[in-house]
Amino acid sequence: MSKRYIYGPVPSRRLGRSLGIDIIPHKICSYDCIYCQLGNTMDKTINRKTFYKPSLILDELNEFLEQNIEVDFITFSGSGEPTLNSDIGEMISQVKFISDIPTVVLTNGSLLWDENVRYELKEADIVVPSMDAVSGEVFEMINRPCKELEILKVLDGLRKFSESFQGKIYLEMMFVKGINDSEYEINKMREFIQKLRIDKIQLNTVVRPPCEKDSKPLNKEEMGNIKEMFRDSGSVETIAHFSAKIKTVYNIDVEKEVINLLKRRPCKLKEMSVSLGIHTNELIKYMTELESKNIIKSYVVDDSKDNYYKVF
Ligand code: SF4
Repeated sequence: MSKRYIYGPVPSRRLGRSLGIDIIPHKICSYDCIYCQLGNTMDKTINRKTFYKPSLILDELNEFLEQNIEVDFITFSGSGEPTLNSDIGEMISQVKFISDIPTVVLTNGSLLWDENVRYELKEADIVVPSMDAVSGEVFEMINRPCKELEILKVLDGLRKFSESFQGKIYLEMMFVKGINDSEYEINKMREFIQKLRIDKIQLNTVVRPPCEKDSKPLNKEEMGNIKEMFRDSGSVETIAHFSAKIKTVYNIDVEKEVINLLKRRPCKLKEMSVSLGIHTNELIKYMTELESKNIIKSYVVDDSKDNYYKVF
């Protein structure tokens, strides 16, 4: 059976060997972040609904688990925002029923004001919400949210979730040069975080080709300064490249296939995914690693919003 919903395990910078479950079609999201690695949002919405039959996803997962491949986490993510899937609660419960592997949900946190969403996430072991701004203006610039979402509502949802959730919360903050890295905004974020019960702060910057080419990363020193500013906010880490342990799941054959394909012609991520039969979220890990080794490079063609890749 070919895999449609499950991908990996992939080397994850924050989670080790992560088996991904994609529960959202490409690319449905409540945000259209300027740094998104998946391209521009095609359906910007806060309407939750069923996208796939949970049993189809569970069948695929069962088949994977029978192979006894080592994974550290089962991660609900998607080619968009996973909490838009109204079956997420049922799926988490069922995964917990058939496996002891800890479950993680990666979310932009924009729907946590909805008590149904908070309830449905309750059985996850770790939830990784993101928060890139606390000022309305910065929120609009970086996350380009659905018109129904305003920053106070989103932040209040995050606060309520942090009070009720029994598992671990890792708060991810993505910094984009000149957008949300002012001292003023960072101090406001620090103040807000004091109100949250979170286990870890994960600082990130634009390391993968963003959908808006003007979204630039902060350098190592700038990220270090921000980390310093959060030093009294609890456990803080900067998400860097894969650790040595994680590299054990890095598949050299996939790397070769990617290079061979790009030697024939430049491709977009989506095209490569179809051509190689590898999920986009998994492929992105390889593209990032190959770019960091200067083997391939990404570029934008004027009439296209998507990044192309080619070998150097
Ligand atoms: S980065 Fe995440 S939240 Fe932002 S647009 Fe992409 S999928 Fe949505």
